[in-house]
Amino acid sequence: MQLKRSTWPQVEAYFKEHDLVVLGFGSIENHGWHNPLSTDWMAPNKIVELAEERRPQVLYGPVLQLGSAEYFLDYPGTLSLGDDLLYRVVRRITGQLFDYGARHFVFLNGHGGNAAALNRCGYEISDLGCQVALVNWWKLAGQLHEPWGGGHGGAQETSADLWIDPDSVDTSAFAGMQLSDDGGNRIHTVGLHDVEFEGVRPILVRSARRYAANGWAGPDDPTTASAEWGQEMLTAMADWFCDFLDAFAEAPLPQPRERHFQ
Ligand SMILES: [Zn+2]
Repeated sequence: MQLKRSTWPQVEAYFKEHDLVVLGFGSIENHGWHNPLSTDWMAPNKIVELAEERRPQVLYGPVLQLGSAEYFLDYPGTLSLGDDLLYRVVRRITGQLFDYGARHFVFLNGHGGNAAALNRCGYEISDLGCQVALVNWWKLAGQLHEPWGGGHGGAQETSADLWIDPDSVDTSAFAGMQLSDDGGNRIHTVGLHDVEFEGVRPILVRSARRYAANGWAGPDDPTTASAEWGQEMLTAMADWFCDFLDAFAEAPLPQPRERHFQ
């Protein structure tokens, strides 16, 4: 049951019987020379479509296209709400759904930069007496099946895009990572955010274009991507996700908790 295709009486009736709602979160941002900007929206949106086929009785809210991607703003086309505004948007939407009767919230997320705002909102609505789940699909895919693991813009996400919308991937632009060291001679860039110093990996907080000319920052090489990988992975994710929804819908609700600070 997609919220956007429902009438308000159908939603009112839903919340008389159920209190589970799924909200999807994407981003419009750099995904390397080869992937479309909406990569982080496409996968959660697809998982929601597959989940609806398997569990049509569940209410699926919108899959938000815009997220928080401040570190990609030097790649043209990236559009970021930023953490504060994303938090406010999610807090308003979840508060409104709470008022309609939602108590079990599932955040199906496609982008790591959204996590701060989703967690902040999650703690607050959990204090209202709700259960909140954060499902970062790209992290869980590698746990379901190790070869499906991947990083930003790499083979994992490229495979998802090749299955969902093959024409959106520019396979002629596949190229190496093009990482450069921007932290001096002794500190080496090794991936998205991460640097290495004496065998240990802290983070330098900076715009990704300072060190990642491609925008893809590894580790999984997109030339190994395939539509078959994308189909198998997202289908398995949707199967797992639906089983999780069944269990999560029965998770006991916590007592509302009033906190006395601002
Ligand atoms: Zn991504």
